[in-house]
Amino acid sequence: MLRAVCFDLDGTLLRPHQDFQQEVLAKLSSSLALTGWQRQKFEAALAHILPNEAVVSSEEAVHVALERSSLDIPDQLFLRIQPVIQNYGQTCEVAEHSLELLDFLQSRSILTAVITNGPVDMQSAALKQTGLETYFSAILISGDPEVNCRKPDKEIFELACQKLAVLPHETLMVGDNPVADCQGALGAGLQAIQVGHRKPKPAGVRQMPNMFMLLEYLRKII
Ligand SMILES: [Mg+2]
Repeated sequence: MLRAVCFDLDGTLLRPHQDFQQEVLAKLSSSLALTGWQRQKFEAALAHILPNEAVVSSEEAVHVALERSSLDIPDQLFLRIQPVIQNYGQTCEVAEHSLELLDFLQSRSILTAVITNGPVDMQSAALKQTGLETYFSAILISGDPEVNCRKPDKEIFELACQKLAVLPHETLMVGDNPVADCQGALGAGLQAIQVGHRKPKPAGVRQMPNMFMLLEYLRKII
């Protein structure tokens, strides 16, 4: 029996990360008055750090990106980037049919959670400003010191089940990343569905082209 569904955020509930990431990177470069090659190096470094590395806050991510680009760390870094981060959610869009899907799960008394990798301030702003925040019984952001682990580590999936008070095998993870979301969830004993067709295709995982098809599928099995 399915009792809970956990969702990835970027590329799953929110429309693909690449589009809005570029907008945010450009805004951060401007807030730091970077131009030309400085900007290119900084944005490339930050684009790698945000989805791939364990950072607690956006300030830490920007700090590391500046260091790796051999750029000076400006005074009052936090104050400079804060307006961009505060409005980060405005550059995010909820993926089509996600709200319909969440409403459907709620109507069937299925618990829901978000499990997302990223700095706690950025991911919180995205959840808040898109209105998604109110839908979930649990929100786990890897940058949150209370979470302190990240996908695909099994600890973060176990923590989600613990917070929802459900067993792993009663829980479905939905995400676009075959490794972080799908393999990670399977490793912790959850079920997994991949939304989209990012490669490599995880073995034993059902794929859905989009949230609408996932909703149609869940309507049949719940
Ligand atoms: Mg994702």
